[in-house]
Order: sequence, then structure tokens, then C-alpha cells
Amino acid sequence: MSSIEENLEKYLDMERILNLFFSEFDYCLSRCIMEEHRRLPSAPCIGCCKDRYHVKYDLDDPAFDLLRKEREALYGKPEERARVRRVSPCEYHSNFGCIVETHKSPICLSFMCRESIDDMRERFGIFEYDYIGFNYALEWILTGDLAGEAYGEFRESCLLMIEKIREKKAA
Ligand code: SF4
Ligand code: SF4
Repeated sequence: MSSIEENLEKYLDMERILNLFFSEFDYCLSRCIMEEHRRLPSAPCIGCCKDRYHVKYDLDDPAFDLLRKEREALYGKPEERARVRRVSPCEYHSNFGCIVETHKSPICLSFMCRESIDDMRERFGIFEYDYIGFNYALEWILTGDLAGEAYGEFRESCLLMIEKIREKKAA
């Protein structure tokens, strides 16, 4: 296995962990999208997907190329989806939200708005989530700059955030 493939494997492992973290946090759908939908039932809500972020922020790097190739194999190339009727400039946004369940770009995977970060701090006492820092960490996992012990520590800190949310919910 090449190191690019290993980097992508680590990235996809982190994506699984972060998806679990966001699902335990449960903010975007229940407190943003659904609330907006209840307020304006006939207007489509796109949350923060207001640009083609997967194009805008992805780096020129072989591991990003591999991530993109696998994403396109699963969900189609952006240009093939360009004619799909949608409410966001992003080709991967459907009327029901983002169709990319795995292989998201680092920025799409890590982004949290101010309101959601405040809620995470208030409800769960998690202050360590800094989306710009997480975005860089995910980029560096792909490029191989965050590896070995540092990768292990980052992974462990994400698992601890999940535990923290579960403990608060159970209390
Ligand atoms: S990050 Fe913020 S704006 Fe984006 S969907 Fe979640 S709550 Fe809504
Ligand atoms: S790929 Fe998904 S998360 Fe990223 S901007 Fe497009 S719809 Fe939003």
C-alpha cells in the first residue's frame, strides 16, 4: 500500500469518528436545518453550504486527488451533477442536504459555525474544538504531515470528545 493510500485510510477513519462526534452532538439537523424549515416551510434551507467548498479549499496534492477520485466514483463528478436542480451552488447539495456521506473535503467535514461552537461549549463543556485547527489537522493527515504519535493523539482527543458528550447526556 502506498503512503498516499495509507493517508487516505487514516483520513477516512477520522471521518468516521467525526461523523460519530457530530451525530452525538446533533446540532446541525435538529437545531439549524429543521428549525429553519419550521420557520419557513416553503423555502429550501442550505445551512452553511453556500459555495463549492470542495473545490475552493481542497489542496493540490496527490492524496486530495485520490480522495476526489473516490468521492466522484461514489457520488459522481461535479460537472455531471451541474444540471441537477438544487438550491446551493455546491453540486453535491440536494434538496435534502449534502449527498456526500463519506469522502468529504476537510473543510466540509470540519466546519462549525459560531452558534454551533457556542452550543457545544455551553451544553457539553467542549472548548477544544476549533474548526480551523481541525481543518488543518485533516489536511495534514491527507498530506502525511500529521502522522505517527501526533495522529494517534489527535484521534484519541476526538474519541474523548465523543465520550464527554455521552457522559453529559447520560448525567
Ligand atoms: S454549521 Fe451552523 S450553519 Fe452550518 S448547518 Fe450546522 S448549525 Fe447550520
Ligand atoms: S460537499 Fe456537501 S458539505 Fe461540502 S459544500 Fe457541498 S453540500 Fe456542503
